[in-house]
Amino acid sequence: MKKEIALGAASALLIVLIWHGVNILPLLFFFFLLGSMYYFFIIKNGPENTRFNILEKESVSVQVDFSSIGGQKTAKKELLEALDFVRHPERVARMGIRPLKGILLVGPPGTGKTLLAKAAATYTDSVFLAASGSEFIEMYAGVGAQRVRQIFSKARSMAARNKKKSAIIFIDEIEILGGSRGSHTSHHEYDQTLNQLLVEMDGITEDSNVRILLIGATNRADMLDKALLRPGRFDRIVPVELPDKEDREEILGLYVANKPLADDVELGRLAGETFGFSGAHLESLANEAAILAMREGCEKICQRHFSEAIDKVIMGEKLERKPVKEEMRRIAVHEIGHAVISEIINPGSVSAVTTTPRGKALGYTRQSPQNDSYLYTKDYLNGQIAVLLAGAAAEEIVFGSRSTGAAGDYKQAVDIARQLIACGMSSLGVVSVENLPGDLLHKELQKLIVEQEEKVKKLLGENRILINRLAENLLAEEKIGGDILRLLMKEEGLVA
Ligand code: ADP
Repeated sequence: MKKEIALGAASALLIVLIWHGVNILPLLFFFFLLGSMYYFFIIKNGPENTRFNILEKESVSVQVDFSSIGGQKTAKKELLEALDFVRHPERVARMGIRPLKGILLVGPPGTGKTLLAKAAATYTDSVFLAASGSEFIEMYAGVGAQRVRQIFSKARSMAARNKKKSAIIFIDEIEILGGSRGSHTSHHEYDQTLNQLLVEMDGITEDSNVRILLIGATNRADMLDKALLRPGRFDRIVPVELPDKEDREEILGLYVANKPLADDVELGRLAGETFGFSGAHLESLANEAAILAMREGCEKICQRHFSEAIDKVIMGEKLERKPVKEEMRRIAVHEIGHAVISEIINPGSVSAVTTTPRGKALGYTRQSPQNDSYLYTKDYLNGQIAVLLAGAAAEEIVFGSRSTGAAGDYKQAVDIARQLIACGMSSLGVVSVENLPGDLLHKELQKLIVEQEEKVKKLLGENRILINRLAENLLAEEKIGGDILRLLMKEEGLVA
């Protein structure tokens, strides 16, 4: 409205000036310049920027139930307990409990933090607003703080409009706006944004018409400013971990419920092969398996589709790149080297070995632990070093030389050796890796690696014929499953 009045007044002024015979061209030019500056600096980039789209549509349509979230029993239990404070405000008030203002979900990406926040909104019958920490931070001073104010006031107005008594604001990657004050280069802007968040959280009171609950999600709780974590702000910190084997089976069950499965599909086995997968990976796995089955024109999804989908989720899409024959043979020997040593050290540990190039790898061996492990022994870590070194060692035994293909393996092997030293499992005893003189650390790393390398070379040397045969087999088949590999190894007379 103000704009229209100003435009009308300006036009009237121009007509009056023309009437009096004044040359208005310089004036028009000046207005044009002013207009362009306003457009570029204020509308396009400035603080009034409307690109900050809080997901308004989600606020009403969000309907995620806790039952559609697999696993996460502890997180669900803790969250539900906390949410009961929002569901039963009268009981909370009667007991004189101060309102719960914030819940922090801490865990790796894809574990279901956003899902939990949405389910919390459904459970408490609240409107739901979501934003990511990075959306608050702009290079313009004051923008972040303004956006924090905006999201809180939007939550209140949206709840009132939808006749809800509570609103849940979900901020993903909250460490971006809630990082320790003074730790950023443009710290004034970051600090202002965080201060505004603290002000808004302190402003949440039980007697207001709309109760607001802030749910933050992060993988880096250690980066958050202490002020955010003090009692009265994020009162509950809920860990949201990667799912264990049982939880993985449950999540897979959720995502295959609407898909036609063949009889050979064993969810338990798939759960065993997917150690380290998040809920998001598992959802993608079920989806990719269905896509592969459809591509092949199958009516049902079989175990082999799942097996290939696991490779795809871990390593990426198959590449069309076809190395020349001699290189293919080297890749096969390299992978068989890994697989054979893995089976000797830890029978039953290989789930697949392939020469299909995916992502950055020209081929790979997939190991799957029999049980989820959270602690590793010295023997296990040494064994992993041996498996990593076995690729290049096999190449050397068969072709007499190594290739650049082992660079990644060596890096991982050295990392594990460093872990052995850091955990007091090397001959140095308990030491601080950071304070070890460089040459001493280097010598100890080398000692650990050489020890395993000698062992691997001896074992592979004794099984040279077996490696050649298995590599030929792999070249012909492109992929060998763990069970077939074990059978072939037995038939070919493995020397363990
Ligand atoms: P985060 O917020 O922790 O990064 P999300 O909640 O956005 O993870 O999860 C991404 C996707 O992964 C979800 O949309 C869902 O499909 C799937 N997902 C993750 N965890 C679970 C789980 N525990 N149960 C079911 N699905 C899950």
